[in-house]
Amino acid sequence: MDATGTSATQSYIGKEARYGARNYAPVPVVVDHAKDCLVWDVEGRRYIDMMSAYSSVSHGHLHPRIVAAAHRQLEKVAVMSRAYYGTTLGPLLEKLSEVTGFERALPMNTGAEAVETAIKCARRWGHRVKGIPDGQQRILVARGNFHGRTTTIIGFSSEEDYRTGFGPFCGGFQHFDYGDMASVQAAATENTCAVLVEPIQGEAGVLVPPPGFFRELREWCTANDVLLIDDEVQAGLGRTGKWFAFEHEGIRPDALILGKALGAGLLPVSAFCADDKVMSVFVPNSHGSTFGGNALAAAVALEGLKVLEEEGLVANCAAKGEHLFRRLREVQAEVKPLIRDVRGRGLWIGVDIEPSCTTARDLVERLAAAGVLSKETHETVIRFAPPLTITYELMDEAVEIFRKVVVQRHRELGLAKG
Ligand SMILES: *Cc1c(COP(=O)(O)O)cnc(C)c1O
Repeated sequence: MDATGTSATQSYIGKEARYGARNYAPVPVVVDHAKDCLVWDVEGRRYIDMMSAYSSVSHGHLHPRIVAAAHRQLEKVAVMSRAYYGTTLGPLLEKLSEVTGFERALPMNTGAEAVETAIKCARRWGHRVKGIPDGQQRILVARGNFHGRTTTIIGFSSEEDYRTGFGPFCGGFQHFDYGDMASVQAAATENTCAVLVEPIQGEAGVLVPPPGFFRELREWCTANDVLLIDDEVQAGLGRTGKWFAFEHEGIRPDALILGKALGAGLLPVSAFCADDKVMSVFVPNSHGSTFGGNALAAAVALEGLKVLEEEGLVANCAAKGEHLFRRLREVQAEVKPLIRDVRGRGLWIGVDIEPSCTTARDLVERLAAAGVLSKETHETVIRFAPPLTITYELMDEAVEIFRKVVVQRHRELGLAKG
């Protein structure tokens, strides 16, 4: 408290509320510092980070190897733009090719920019390679998609809050129902150049596609000369228990979009990855970004990829995820009918709350007050996606706090029997 009785928490929240645009409604926790999977607020309270900035902090906060790589690069050079070559971008691109299996990558900064890159690439490929008249190219997108917040991308969102009042929108997108092949076929025309899709729909509530959907989609894309573009900005780089979520489906897309964890918890770094036959539509002056692939970002991303590999974070994610999933299912059984579903893959789990009981936001705020950071998506789903570095002990501690919070709420709502 200061002399006027305002807590540090209230003071910082007050400044953001007073001077910021109102485009977010944050959980009322003011973070001061963080280390690996733990976060401390300005009052000195400790939290377990079960959100990891939507996968951006998959390596844990301020991973020492990644911070050291950043420091080393900061002694040399940070930003030069792509007007010149550097010593970190080439090695990053080489490493990306090794881990993704794609021949080339185009670095950008935010996920949305890499999605925009994919859209431009698909359209130019559609015109120049597939022979669709320029301006007639169509891209299929799923209902319930989330690919970012630019005007082009929100134009094909099915979320009214993301769109309303922001038109006119960019044309050339058609919707299909996620997981439904018949709906893909119905939406397609001869001018379809690409399908842009998430391997798991995160924002929509951590929706895992029905088995076989991606295999059928892959076959259909191949048969119809349509690019399958996989947006793994959130799913990629180990989150689901494999390097890339498409590996669970036994397929390989034609292009891959990475972001979030690619910045290794330090910087915004994204990339559009594809083989030469697709990527070659880009020539000098056709696309670019001032900060994309800058020396510091590339050094950080490269070290991040090495850490994922050398510390076994991808290899251990599946078993950790199964443990977390099983423990959350136990809580579900204890508080019937408050939790209607627990779903996900790897360390990416959605807990779906029965809307007649309470909202996800209510529980997210109670969880934060009890020392666990999570985030709701829509009214009913709580997302749990801790850093891949999380220990079993810390997961158990977080689940125990979650259990206490929901059992308490269950009792308050009069749902407990006896
Ligand atoms: C977060 C996200 C994006 C957008 O990334 P930004 O860095 O916020 O622009 C795109 N696609 C998916 C699947 C995402 O989860």
